[in-house]
Amino acid sequence: MLPKWHFLAALILSIMLWPIFKLGVFAIIFIAVFIDIDHYLTYVFWKKDFNLTNAYHFYIKRGATYRKTGKIDKKYSLCIFHTIEFLLLFSILALIFKFFQILFIGYALHFFQDLFSEFFCFFNGGRKSVRKLSLIGYVYQLRKGTL
Ligand SMILES: [Zn+2]
Repeated sequence: MLPKWHFLAALILSIMLWPIFKLGVFAIIFIAVFIDIDHYLTYVFWKKDFNLTNAYHFYIKRGATYRKTGKIDKKYSLCIFHTIEFLLLFSILALIFKFFQILFIGYALHFFQDLFSEFFCFFNGGRKSVRKLSLIGYVYQLRKGTL
């Protein structure tokens, strides 16, 4: 899902939550948009290239190629902040620290927007998502060479 949709959803949620969190809503918006930084981190990790523009074009081209051919290099399918393990870690931090409770709202919004978007695309004739939802599963498949 494109960052503009995460921003829009976070903005709407933040307006509704303003009476509760006041300026804390900016943390919700920030985390809801910038959690996608993991796409860039994955790109940097595999390509050894820090150029943000190159990363953006790489993912746009990658998505278009996948939609057209159904083929994709799955090693780029892990986005560390979009895994069940990170969701679990974030949940634990939110139970312990009040600051993480506010961040968790933005994080959960982003996470479930992505999930909803992928399910919606799939059930409307789109291709199956190749995103890896588990870090452990990804590392296991990578080591076995079955990724
Ligand atoms: Zn995302």
